[in-house]
Amino acid sequence: MTAFPLPPNATIGIVGGGQLGRMSAMAAARLGYRCHILTPEPDSPAGQVAAGVTLGEYEDPAALRDFALHADVVTFEFENVSAEGLDLLASLKPVRPSPAVLRVSQERIIEKTFINRAGVPTAPWAPVESESDLAAALAGVGLPAILKTTRLGYDGRGQARVATEAEAWEAYRRLLPHPLILEGVVDFACEISVVCARGADGDYAAFDVVENRHRDHILDLTFAPARIPEETAATAEAVGRRVAEALDLVGLLAVEMFVTAEGKVLANEIAPRPHNSGHWTIDACPASQFEMHIRAVAGLPLLPAARHSDAVMKNLVGPEELALWPEIVATPGLIPHLYGKAEARPGRKMGHVTRLFPKGGLPGPFGTQAALGVLGDAAL
Ligand code: AMP
Repeated sequence: MTAFPLPPNATIGIVGGGQLGRMSAMAAARLGYRCHILTPEPDSPAGQVAAGVTLGEYEDPAALRDFALHADVVTFEFENVSAEGLDLLASLKPVRPSPAVLRVSQERIIEKTFINRAGVPTAPWAPVESESDLAAALAGVGLPAILKTTRLGYDGRGQARVATEAEAWEAYRRLLPHPLILEGVVDFACEISVVCARGADGDYAAFDVVENRHRDHILDLTFAPARIPEETAATAEAVGRRVAEALDLVGLLAVEMFVTAEGKVLANEIAPRPHNSGHWTIDACPASQFEMHIRAVAGLPLLPAARHSDAVMKNLVGPEELALWPEIVATPGLIPHLYGKAEARPGRKMGHVTRLFPKGGLPGPFGTQAALGVLGDAAL
């Protein structure tokens, strides 16, 4: 039986070996916990900094059992674990967030239905399981639209933007597996997100709403705080709270949203784990998103999600941006983070850089460009 709060030296099991697990394990170590990682990847970013690793597939019952044996509590940095795997883990150890929360975030139709039922608006959408569904969805949602797979999509994979019915039918035949979801294209003024934490006792803390810029469907820049009117930020914060409470979340939650030209806030996606748009909190907050994640999972009190600085976070994606590393580490003011990945494939997140500014001192585009030094041109 696991007793909460977890005492020092207890072990937190993390499913997934990527950078989110790595930074969670580093935060856990500072709080005196050990982490044990489940990953199929030898020499994973999280495995490199953890006390132990179970090397195995997420669906392999023997690997899941071995992993659970090492952990006092289990959490995730990766959502795409099978439902059966989750249930097996939950039968052995406390799982935070719960398998029910993960199920909502794993499938876009369930996710969007849940978000709308919680009273939060999204872009118009319709499920597409058959040809007749597609015809109905095109009539209901309209064009232009985005056809998306409902599972395992990330960084723009498994999506097609369609401007005509012919393109929609072509994408319907190409995108697999079905079902799909058809979403109306939001003509957004900006993309924002909120990262919030919720404890088992309902304790709650939300970091300031941030603004995100993507390049080739991959997050490129995060600006903290978002440069949006106060009431828009308050609406976005309320969305985070509403979704976290509706999920009865214990852990961390990121909600990605669009802000339309009229200032309307529409939710796009939720992720019940640390999020790339929260990496700035490591350097700009006394307690980062990773520490909050570990605190919620371990049953420690949550701290206020306070920010002592403004920040810009720039992702280092693929071999081109990794090649700038020698200059990055030589530039005062750029705070470097590298994830320990051996191979820099195009589109792969290799690390990130944070630049801090005095609170209220976030610069405009030219100032940001200058502040990012060698990364400035790549950024804007
Ligand atoms: P997703 O995989 O749903 O997070 O989408 C990845 C990115 O594609 C988002 O961050 C947006 O930049 C863009 N996108 C996704 N859905 C829409 C939409 N309905 N309207 C406009 N842009 C979208």
